[in-house]
Amino acid sequence: MFKSARFKLTAWYLLIIMLISILFSIAIYSEINSELGRVEHFQELRKQRDLQFVPAPPPNPELDRNVVAEARDRITLILILVNFGILVISGGAAYFLAGRTLKPIKEMVDEQNRFITDSSHELRTPLTSLRSEIEVSLRDKNLSVKDAIKLLESNLEDVISLQSLSDNLMELAQYQKQNDNLLSEKISTKEIINTAYKKILPLAAKKNIAIKNDTKDYFIEGDKQNLIQVFTILLDNAVKYSNKDKHITLTSTKNDHKILISVKDQGIGIKEEDLPHIFDRFYRADKSRSKEKTTGYGLGLSIAKRIIDTHNGIIRVKSKPGKESEFIVEIPEKNQSKII
Ligand code: ADP
Repeated sequence: MFKSARFKLTAWYLLIIMLISILFSIAIYSEINSELGRVEHFQELRKQRDLQFVPAPPPNPELDRNVVAEARDRITLILILVNFGILVISGGAAYFLAGRTLKPIKEMVDEQNRFITDSSHELRTPLTSLRSEIEVSLRDKNLSVKDAIKLLESNLEDVISLQSLSDNLMELAQYQKQNDNLLSEKISTKEIINTAYKKILPLAAKKNIAIKNDTKDYFIEGDKQNLIQVFTILLDNAVKYSNKDKHITLTSTKNDHKILISVKDQGIGIKEEDLPHIFDRFYRADKSRSKEKTTGYGLGLSIAKRIIDTHNGIIRVKSKPGKESEFIVEIPEKNQSKII
């Protein structure tokens, strides 16, 4: 598809360039032609005058006309050669330019296709299990009310999980297209952290996890709701991937007009081979290491990274498997939002 689009765009570029070139050539040719006409005319006049006053040497009008006609032919040939040269050179340049023009569009379409494929794949798994459970139960002639209730409960769990997946996908799609309509207001980091902290507190309390908030207050430019979302994701993960009775510590520092906020837990940690992939969409590291069943579709960190990217920031992770993980978010004080 992109190959044919590239050829079409090349043809359009070439058409425009050649039209301009041919128009210029015609203009140059007609200008030179009229100059040659004038020369011819003056030569004619001079010859007539010379004939009247100087009888010798005998005039050779044929020779003069030949010189002018030859000049005309040579100019025509030069112009044809120049146009041919332009056609060849601009053909190559147009093909290259067409490739450059289409590259970001191709990347965007590829990314969208990947997104659709990944999403359909993730949606298919719970849907298939839901369908087979219902089908098996419907075929069972001796299905008791108790079994039916059990089935409905399990179905409800799947539906809730599917709903959360579709919510996450919508969020990701929204952040994916978000660029220059990103709000950029002056916000307090303390306010962002406190809001995220309050959201996660009930979850942490369930596992008797203490969240120590040692952050200082700094002001940054950015989108408040989006940044609250980032720290909610990080804190939610810190709780999710920690066993009971652990600690989570939140700290912040300022370094060279950048604010660094760290979320550190005493959880299960992340294996070295998983570290480069955890920000990828749908990537989930080995869950068997966690003592509890964790929920999620591997979308949280990719959403967080996307938001931090739009703030010209960086999100990185350090981890000791089986011991701790630390996510550090680095955001510039002044935000010149990236145009994506
Ligand atoms: P989800 O938590 O929904 O699986 P995320 O994108 O938030 O998706 O995280 C991707 C993966 O990174 C998780 O599946 C988990 O394996 C790992 N991970 C994220 N945060 C932590 C953490 N604080 N401790 C240990 N592992 C983590």
